[in-house]
Amino acid sequence: MRYYIPDYVRRAVGLLNSHGFSAYPVGGCVRDTLLSRPVHDWDITTAARPDDIVRVFGDAVCGDEGKKYGTVRVKVDGEMMEITAFRVEGGYSDMRRPDSVEFTSDLNDDLSRRDFTVNAMAFDEDGTLIDPFGGLSDINDRLLRAVGDADTRFGEDALRIMRALRFSSVLGFSLEKNTHEAVFLCRGLLRHVARERIYEEFKKLMSGRDAHRVICEYADVIAVFMPDITAAGEYSLAFACDTVSRLPADFHIRTAALYIAKGFPDADALADSFLCSLKSDRAARNKVSAIIKAASMLCDTSETGIKKAMALMGADAVKAALLIKQSMAKASRDEDGALLYEAASQKAEAVINSGECITVGGLAIDGRDLISLGFEPSPRMGETLSRLLFAVIEGETENSRGALLEYAKKLMGQT
Ligand code: ATP
Ligand code: MG
Repeated sequence: MRYYIPDYVRRAVGLLNSHGFSAYPVGGCVRDTLLSRPVHDWDITTAARPDDIVRVFGDAVCGDEGKKYGTVRVKVDGEMMEITAFRVEGGYSDMRRPDSVEFTSDLNDDLSRRDFTVNAMAFDEDGTLIDPFGGLSDINDRLLRAVGDADTRFGEDALRIMRALRFSSVLGFSLEKNTHEAVFLCRGLLRHVARERIYEEFKKLMSGRDAHRVICEYADVIAVFMPDITAAGEYSLAFACDTVSRLPADFHIRTAALYIAKGFPDADALADSFLCSLKSDRAARNKVSAIIKAASMLCDTSETGIKKAMALMGADAVKAALLIKQSMAKASRDEDGALLYEAASQKAEAVINSGECITVGGLAIDGRDLISLGFEPSPRMGETLSRLLFAVIEGETENSRGALLEYAKKLMGQT
């Protein structure tokens, strides 16, 4: 059986071969080809050392910041690729990064340092599979199996525990028995892994097709960095996972859903401190927080209630919150509730499509108009514009320049 390898990858391999170095597409690109999934990066592993790679590719080299670990980035026919020298890893004293990397001339040594059998395969130049650890058979059985002894491999680098959970969620694979047990046995080592790296894997896990199954099955592992997951009892965990299973594959929506569905009264604060603990970016924290706040406001699903929630939290957060509410209703077999929130989602869609005013920016007047009425430029102006927006939403005034200026004058008179 010969698998497809794109021309630019063949060209890069051919160039290395013509200089006397063996070279092979390896890792994720091989796995995804066998799974008929789109391949996003074609990585190449080669007998060439980093200095040789730089010499062979000359002007095509785009970055050598990973050279110490053997990796050089190149661009061939406009496509970026990572070329990495065959390597084995030295000892691990911090359970994160090998103390040293040693280069080797043997492809098999390089494949044996890789994490899972499905990630430890390569293609030779004519597209034939090189598979020393039974990766193809594990792909057929939809299994993730550590290369070598699972405890040892997780002990060397505990990030592999997160990678196991992530691949399980994204690919819908189960963990082979020894690998499964080692994940639980070694889970405490996750405390030594950089929070940012856990976060990157957790985001991918949460966006995977099987996120709900993995969260439920490996809650005790996830609890090492997300203690909230096992708080509030087993029923709440099962309910939260059922809710997540009904939601689109979006990290922010699903994370917000976990906190909402677990019924925490202070869901917003808990979710925020969890995301902070993983050094999440502010944009992600804001998105999750807006969804949780919108959900708590959506007891009123009238058109006015929906518009007010949109004015305060943004239309996207409200749409996400309504989806979560609908999924929670379905998870608790509450058919009336599910219908109610489905209808509310349709109302929300209609509001967005109608172009009705749901933001201060949509008002027929702005801050300059208020200043011309004698307002001092100050933060209070923003407050006044928000009051005008709510007045429009509640039907107390039209959204026209004349009516709003009149209404603003009345507000000024009051204060
Ligand atoms: P994707 O890019 O789709 O997330 P991938 O398998 O390409 O998946 P990368 O993180 O890009 O994953 O790593 C490339 C390859 O390097 C993997 O397929 C695996 O062979 C190896 N690898 C990556 N991280 C580790 C690790 N922590 N321990 C051992 N091998 C690893
Ligand atoms: Mg990759």
